[in-house]
Amino acid sequence: MAEPQVEVRRSKRRRQTVSAYRDGDKVVVLLPARMSRAEEKRWVADMLSRLQRSETRRRSPARDSDEALAERCRALAAKYLDGRAEPATVRWVPPMRTRWASCTPSDASIRVSRRLRDVPGWVLDYVLVHELAHLLVPGHGPAFWKLVRQYPKTERAVGYLEGLSAAAHLDLGLDDDTEPESDAV
Ligand SMILES: [Zn+2]
Repeated sequence: MAEPQVEVRRSKRRRQTVSAYRDGDKVVVLLPARMSRAEEKRWVADMLSRLQRSETRRRSPARDSDEALAERCRALAAKYLDGRAEPATVRWVPPMRTRWASCTPSDASIRVSRRLRDVPGWVLDYVLVHELAHLLVPGHGPAFWKLVRQYPKTERAVGYLEGLSAAAHLDLGLDDDTEPESDAV
């Protein structure tokens, strides 16, 4: 992973606390105004490694391979869909122009955009539950959403993906209905 761009902001109101957050491609580190250059250097390095550790922890183990992705689907289907949704194939695919993920019920295949590799695990889980649910219910009617909402973070994840799509100036959704072979909508 490349070193992120770092912006250091010093605040007179801040006396002790140091914090850091990611803002697009850069990391903003907030420091007390009176800190020395040497301390600044040490804190910036420390905050970058802390941030990276926490982000790595939040990512899904499914990001590593198609096998791990399929394993995650099995776990989610067992937990939220009574084990009924059984995809034949689940794969990571290169970023798609208009979709985060898609599903073809006729051959029970699910494809997930690599754009989602670094989102928090609970967001990826929602995407997988959504696509798995399409193996049982086509389209986005009430029966479909009733099934998907058994995954408790559905609303939050939908909001997260909308925000991500807007931030990246993309118009991405899950399984676009304009492609007839996908999603059987
Ligand atoms: Zn859908």
